Amino acid sequence: MKTIKAKAVTALNKNFETIQIQRRLPNPDDVVIAISHCGICHSDIHTARGEWGGPKFPCVPGHEIVGHVIGKGAKVKKFKLGDPVGVGCFVNSCGRCDSCKNHEEQFCEKGATFTYNSATPDVPGHTLGGYASEITVKEKYVLKIKKGLPLDKVAPLLCAGITTYSPLKKYGTKKGYKVGVVGLGGLGHMAIKLAKAMGAEVTVFSTSANKEKDAKKLGAKKFVLTNDSKIFADLAKNFHLIINTVSAKHDINPYLTALKIDGTMVMLGVPPEPNQVAATSLIYGRKKLTGSLIGGIKETQEMLDFCAKKKVFSDIELIQADQIDEAYERTIKGLVKYRFVVDMKSL
Ligand code: NAP
Ligand code: ZN
Repeated sequence: MKTIKAKAVTALNKNFETIQIQRRLPNPDDVVIAISHCGICHSDIHTARGEWGGPKFPCVPGHEIVGHVIGKGAKVKKFKLGDPVGVGCFVNSCGRCDSCKNHEEQFCEKGATFTYNSATPDVPGHTLGGYASEITVKEKYVLKIKKGLPLDKVAPLLCAGITTYSPLKKYGTKKGYKVGVVGLGGLGHMAIKLAKAMGAEVTVFSTSANKEKDAKKLGAKKFVLTNDSKIFADLAKNFHLIINTVSAKHDINPYLTALKIDGTMVMLGVPPEPNQVAATSLIYGRKKLTGSLIGGIKETQEMLDFCAKKKVFSDIELIQADQIDEAYERTIKGLVKYRFVVDMKSL
């Protein structure tokens, strides 16, 4: 075991504190990573604040992890010491079920081991994430990052990037497609950039009037302030695909109306309370309502390579490790442009 530093919440309603945690010594197929940066995803906040049920303490969130290889087991082939690498939302899966064989490890039938708050044989019995100076991960779940890229702006691709890339790709985003993005936060801003890079015309739906200029700068053609419900009447039957990234309870029926016949809305946000859907919102126009969960390792690598080629990175605010509590408060208020990333060297 190696003792390293991490930022943890040690009980509900407490602020982050610096603690010492243990990482396992590398097994033959393990990669040891010195974490340089870790993004702050709203899922970190839902988890650390107990919004999805009780977190396990100490709770060390963080699943938008980038850094460099500083150690490896004897069987590791894909990586050399010093390579820039990434780790996303899960660090293990059974490897044998249909989902794993189908490169969709996030849907592992035995349950994927998520990067934090999942059961593990390692101490303390649950996984501890990327708000830490190091992490040890099986080679198979480590992503390659092209040398020379800005690692701080790459970190959010490991969750916000793949979570939006996967449904955009699956539902056929291409030139001529009209894509709506609901909520301009971490996931939302990546959805705009990626849909635009795939050739689509993007409309942003937001509750924040002051984000209009940014939405256009990020690549959106139109901006709809959702406080004005009359606007939805003009948008009926408009979109092939809507990517919904909202983290809180809201009325999703107007967005279903805005879909074209056979159009699809993909739910990505995980509000703690359920949304209500009127059957008529789906029936008139054979609309589809579905969800999507991050993406498998193969697709995450494909997304990283796509982003490197198209020069698509996250717009970030780089913060120090002692600013995480403040960053959570600002994220909840929608006051982040557009992802906080922690400089882990400041830990
Ligand atoms: P975020 O940066 O906080 O962005 C969420 C955005 O939602 C806000 O910027 C805001 O946009 C909008 N919003 C917030 N409260 C709202 C309300 N009451 N009504 C309407 N709009 C509201 O969060 P994120 O990191 O992008 O994550 C978004 C959600 O996706 C979270 O629930 C997270 O847990 C989930 N998530 C899911 C997956 C997956 O695999 N499915 C992966 C990662 C994250 P405007 O200011 O533009 O209105
Ligand atoms: Zn996330």
